[in-house]
Amino acid sequence: MEPSRNKNSREPYINLFFGVLIPLGLFALYSAIKGLRFETPPPGLIILFVVTVFFGSILRFQLPRTKIHLTISDALIFLSLLLYGGSVAIILGTLEAGFTAMMLRRQGVRMSWKTVSINVLIATISVFASSTAVIAVFGPPELLMGEAVTSQLIMILSVMAFSQFAVNSVLVSVWVSIKNSETLWRVWNEYCFNALVMFLCGALMAGIATKAIYQMDYYMFIAVAVFFGLVYLTYNRYVQDVKSTAAEAQEAERKRAEDAEQHVRELEHYVHELQKSTEALRESREKFRHAAYHDHLTNLPNRAHFIGKITELIDKRSKEDHHRFAVMFLDLDRFKTLNESLGHSVGDRLITHVAARLSNIITHKGVVGRFGGDEFAILLNGVDGEIDTLELAERVRRQIAEPFSVDGRQLFTNASIGIAFGDKRYVTAEELLRDADIAMYHAKTSLSGITVFDPNMHARAVQLLELETDLRVAVKRKQFELFYQPIVTLSDGRIKGFEALVRWPHPSRGLISPADFIPLAETTGLIVPITRQLLRDACIQVKKWQEMTDEPFEVSVNLSGKHFEHPNLVEQVKEVVEQTKITPSSLKLEITESAVMDNAETAISTLKQIRETGIRVSIDDFGTGYSSLSYLHRFPIDTLKIDRSFVNTMEEGSENGEIVRIILALARALKLDVIAEGIESIHEFHQLRILGCEYGQGYMFSRPLQAKDIERMILGELPWRNALAEAGFGMVSHDTALTQLKWTQ
Ligand code: C2E
Ligand code: MG
Ligand code: MG
Repeated sequence: MEPSRNKNSREPYINLFFGVLIPLGLFALYSAIKGLRFETPPPGLIILFVVTVFFGSILRFQLPRTKIHLTISDALIFLSLLLYGGSVAIILGTLEAGFTAMMLRRQGVRMSWKTVSINVLIATISVFASSTAVIAVFGPPELLMGEAVTSQLIMILSVMAFSQFAVNSVLVSVWVSIKNSETLWRVWNEYCFNALVMFLCGALMAGIATKAIYQMDYYMFIAVAVFFGLVYLTYNRYVQDVKSTAAEAQEAERKRAEDAEQHVRELEHYVHELQKSTEALRESREKFRHAAYHDHLTNLPNRAHFIGKITELIDKRSKEDHHRFAVMFLDLDRFKTLNESLGHSVGDRLITHVAARLSNIITHKGVVGRFGGDEFAILLNGVDGEIDTLELAERVRRQIAEPFSVDGRQLFTNASIGIAFGDKRYVTAEELLRDADIAMYHAKTSLSGITVFDPNMHARAVQLLELETDLRVAVKRKQFELFYQPIVTLSDGRIKGFEALVRWPHPSRGLISPADFIPLAETTGLIVPITRQLLRDACIQVKKWQEMTDEPFEVSVNLSGKHFEHPNLVEQVKEVVEQTKITPSSLKLEITESAVMDNAETAISTLKQIRETGIRVSIDDFGTGYSSLSYLHRFPIDTLKIDRSFVNTMEEGSENGEIVRIILALARALKLDVIAEGIESIHEFHQLRILGCEYGQGYMFSRPLQAKDIERMILGELPWRNALAEAGFGMVSHDTALTQLKWTQ
């Protein structure tokens, strides 16, 4: 709406301007036509007309680095003024302006007929003003040119150019200012310099051409015109070159800018990618760091993390003497068995539950970590004293002893806890952890399940480590030897069988008794290969003796509680029986009461499988394992072995005598055999017989002997060294002893 309103508001001014121009222009044109003097125009004039009208505005060029366009038409109109007078110049100016406007319209420039007319009128009036000024000052110029000296010519040219400039610039400025609604002064100011240069150049060219025409002959003028034509073409070419070079340079610049922008974009992209990958790298580094210092199952700090933390505290303690801290080392009892019997995923879940329970107890008091398997550690920073730490350990043990619900099943476990306090003697974290670990091993065999480290333990641990190394060698080299202790029928003194008891002839320490290495063999798992080897040896040995004597000797082999939990136990025993071809009923496995009671339900199933093979089972050390009577009758067993401790302290009317009597009554009720262990005196022997005990073994009859000695004994070559002999019967043979025994009845 706005532009059209503007246009409408300008229209009257335009019309007014047009209305002023029309009479002026028509008057100029009328006076020009009236002033024409010749009947037939000379050929030079015709050429000038043609060139001016048709080519004048085409032959134009721009002054380099300016907006000024010089056309040859101005020069030609001036030239016509100088050579043929004002009338010719005015008509020529009018025609040239009209033709140029038409050309522009044909080329597509939007121009109304009013605008075309105004352009033509301004041109007519300007040339009219210019010719009128020259004639008024100098008289008709065409008459002066023949004699005009250069200074006069310059004057004429100046008047001509300035008068044309004045009228033309004013009229054009008025017209543009009306059309564009701009101030007259602004338009004139912008336009005037260009117009002045245009007209001055035109006048100069016209002056030079006039001078040339009058001072040179016709051919010379043509040559000069050709020369100027060439100069013009060369100049035009040069300008075009400059333009195209500038355009190329501009294009190259634009391309460079585009390239630079593209590079910037690419660079931004790379920077972004780099930032992303740096971020990803940082995250993955963080993940790796976390994984390196945490346990993947429980997400608790791991050993490496703990070492770092303890090292920090050791450093702190070296600066602040009073600062105290402690490390608790925890191990779950029977975890391996649970893991193997219920599967590793249940084991893993149990570990996760234990971790959560520990974290709940410890909270801010310290750091809980997992070192793998069923091993946990707790770092307590700033502990008050040993009593507080022990109380906390007690709480931990009580909480861990509470049942865990895993997969709808209730699982029970206990924690053994070793504690080491971070005192001055510790320089490295590893030393402190090592000592907490040693204390934990002691805790496993202690009643409370909690042990605080003391330096003697370390020495023992070192010994134990040496022993473990030797034990591994002994297993590889099959260095173990079985001793056999006869089991005697108390009623007739006959040898019913033998208990196989292991000895380790250590290359430097001599004969090591089982009490000194079986626990170690159990914790290291070496007990399994050792027992399998001993089982085989014992079966081969006893089968040999059976064949030598035709006696149905039995052999009892001790089975460790740890081995009893082994999932392949039954297959292993069966394999030995098949390989050695011993009658299964000749083999008896001795399992301690505590081993079967620890996990009664599993024990019952294992015992059943053993009994199904024909192999028999004894409960060893009976009376020490707090057997639950409700279980006892369910155990598929053959024999109870009364522990030596009851036999040794058995006196008439004593408490232990009563226990032996009850065990015998119980065995009778459950239809079990009974073997009394550790019969050392004739008194014990008598008492057991009176109480109705069927079988016995002990030093009174024989100490455990090497196989070769047993062999001599059963073949009657070895005198039977026993309590009867010590009581004054001298060294007697096997048969004599039996006679003696019978005699004592
Ligand atoms: P145990 O199975 O209760 O074996 C009986 C222990 O009492 C044997 O000790 C034997 O020498 C000892 N003994 C027998 N009669 C008397 C006596 O009249 N007086 C005294 N003071 N002791 C007597 P040993 O051979 O030192 O074995 C100790 C324990 O080591 C065994 O107790 C058994 O639990 C374990 N053991 C022995 N051999 C093996 C084995 O091959 N495998 C396993 N797993 N354990 C074994
Ligand atoms: Mg035994
Ligand atoms: Mg025993």
